[in-house]
Amino acid sequence: MEVIRGISRMREFVQEQKLSGKRIGLVPTMGYLHAGHLSLVREALKSCDVVVMSIFVNPLQFGVGEDFEDYPRDLTRDSELAEQAGVAAIFAPAVSEMYPSGGYYSYVDVEKTTEGLCGRSRPGHFRGVTTVVTKLFNIVQPDVAVFGQKDAQQAVVIQRMVRDLNLPLQIVVAPIIREADGLALSSRNVYLNPAEREAALVLYRSLNQAEQLVTAGERNAKVLQETIEKQIKEEPLARIDYIEVVRAEDLQPSEVLQGRTLIALAVFFGQTRLIDNRIVEV
Ligand code: AMP
Repeated sequence: MEVIRGISRMREFVQEQKLSGKRIGLVPTMGYLHAGHLSLVREALKSCDVVVMSIFVNPLQFGVGEDFEDYPRDLTRDSELAEQAGVAAIFAPAVSEMYPSGGYYSYVDVEKTTEGLCGRSRPGHFRGVTTVVTKLFNIVQPDVAVFGQKDAQQAVVIQRMVRDLNLPLQIVVAPIIREADGLALSSRNVYLNPAEREAALVLYRSLNQAEQLVTAGERNAKVLQETIEKQIKEEPLARIDYIEVVRAEDLQPSEVLQGRTLIALAVFFGQTRLIDNRIVEV
């Protein structure tokens, strides 16, 4: 496995692979890998010969006061895990390689789908995501890119961008990987102290409860939202950022559930903001 730092070497690597007829899969990450990231590699290997994983903590998608500086980084460990999972190349550019000093002026904005949920509480976040993902698509030129359902809104926004801008690749969204007790894997889970780690299980419990209500026939989004809110408020270490029930396809509010519906949460435990979600089908 090769660890590539420069854009020109990355392009050359991909060119070599394409010349020998290989299909390229891209798994974009911010590193500090866990089983969730590695499941995306397995997914990419189902339809691609060569998987490139990008590891880049993208300053553009962090707001003022967020955890860009503190975000966990360990490229040595990541390289071992990626290689074991079958990654052919890691693309780990420096910030100065992606955003050279001397001015950066070009951004990709996706409207509507970025207005609610995380877009509301993290202004500018999705502009940072869609800009860096577009740059990665242009550098790696993958046939397929795999994203996790864990970041449900991100997956919808990227799919929208690819469709709207006719980007020539296929997007695959892979399921959420969880710890045995239900906590969704996240690089940010390392921030949690033991009490917060325990408290964070309320996310999974409340999503399960909401899904059970839907299975039992509940169709009122407000009832679901309030049920989750009540359960999370019983957990003293939790502070709700948002609980939303929206149409899974375009993230628009759905008062009465119809079709695929996304129940999405963002909750703080101490300083750590965790997200989780569930798709229900009615
Ligand atoms: P991140 O490094 O957190 O930016 O995540 C990189 C990719 O991994 C994104 O597409 C995430 O949605 C995905 N991902 C993160 N956590 C999980 C998880 N627990 N299960 C599945 N995919 C995940």
